[in-house]
Amino acid sequence: MTNQFDAVTLIRKKREAQELSSEEIGWLIDQYTHGDLPDYQMSAFLMAGFLHRLSEVETSALTEAMLHSGVVVNLDMIPGRKVDKHSTGGVGDKTSLLLAPIAAACGVPVPMISGRGLGHTGGTLDKLESIPGFQVNVTLDRYQEILASHGAVLIGQTKEIAPADKKIYALRDVTATVESIPFVASSIMSKKLAEGIDALVLDVKVGSGAFLKPVDQALELAQTLVGIGERFGKKTIAYLTDMNQPLGHAVGNWLEVEEVMDCLRGEGPADLLEVSHLLAGTMIWLGDKASTLEEGIEKSKEAVFTGKALEKWLELVEAHGGDSAVLQSGSDSPHHAAYEIKVHADRDGFIGPMDTFELGMISVLLGAGRQKKEDPVDPAAGFILHKKIGDPVQLNEPILTFYTDRESMIERAKTRFVNAIQIVSDRSSPPKLVTYVVDAEGVRPF
Ligand code: URA
Repeated sequence: MTNQFDAVTLIRKKREAQELSSEEIGWLIDQYTHGDLPDYQMSAFLMAGFLHRLSEVETSALTEAMLHSGVVVNLDMIPGRKVDKHSTGGVGDKTSLLLAPIAAACGVPVPMISGRGLGHTGGTLDKLESIPGFQVNVTLDRYQEILASHGAVLIGQTKEIAPADKKIYALRDVTATVESIPFVASSIMSKKLAEGIDALVLDVKVGSGAFLKPVDQALELAQTLVGIGERFGKKTIAYLTDMNQPLGHAVGNWLEVEEVMDCLRGEGPADLLEVSHLLAGTMIWLGDKASTLEEGIEKSKEAVFTGKALEKWLELVEAHGGDSAVLQSGSDSPHHAAYEIKVHADRDGFIGPMDTFELGMISVLLGAGRQKKEDPVDPAAGFILHKKIGDPVQLNEPILTFYTDRESMIERAKTRFVNAIQIVSDRSSPPKLVTYVVDAEGVRPF
């Protein structure tokens, strides 16, 4: 394959907005992955592709090339349709920790490879690692063993999965070529398709705390992701879900794990439970354990109501080396922040629009996320939002409580929280939680 094409010719072709063939894209990715194409030529190609967005055919070819740059896990020996969920990332989005045990408790095998917190968004791996002992770095052999024995597995990206994406993502990050829908979609899907799934549910966030804030862009991403999934023979359904305020009340790794426990006991926040039952219900339906979406949702609720999902969650925690006893010990928390500070309403009124991106950035400042890739995260840091959009508040009533060890950040965090949450005179309705569904048939309001 080495001398089949010439890099300068392919870069020029893309620079002139022409479509590259699948072979040409495959060659570029292969050369780059093996170190035979320098960073400067891949950077030039990425910028040309960013400016003259990749076509559907090119996006599929890029996904395929990145997918096959590493191991594509074969889970055929595990009976049943394997289903995963991917979220485009949000603030307080802890649904993965609920969906894996709920779907597994309903008999759907869930192979889940997740990421760490990125920018203002939290990451599933950081939340899992706040459970003492929980191991997310396991080999692909152990990944298959845990899935076969326990019905779900939750791990981090391994070096064998889509190595080309890892290399290209790092280059996109430093060449201002991240925010291109075809690049984002192929990057996400190359990793998801490598997990060994049969079907995929996508939670595409929209609103002030989402990666792509406007509805039209979120819809375009959802359609591109679904298009790739379907072209690779995987039943794929996406929902657009609201990120104009954090999901649930808790933001921060251990705080979110505690909220997951509340949900699995049937006591969690209504918005988080509603989105989780929709996503889990869809997984149960796509996993052939329900004949309709509605039946899937009912089964999801039943798994929580009967305690089966909680039992499965504790089993999964143990399977990953985690201490399930600390999850059940009530007030005996393994993590304590040095400071617990309340932020009060500065007037009477109603909670209005929130800058959810800013709320996520403040949680990073408190220690819940990373400013640099290699920074450690503090499992105890974060905040609990006591009020959500549309709730009435009175002067001096607490609207949130934050937790941190960073004394120097306290005053700055207080000011930024007050500025990020508006208190308005007229009550506005809470944003609709799920606005669109996207599948092989197209886009429909939900
Ligand atoms: N997440 C990914 O995996 N890839 C992107 O390009 C953006 C977000």
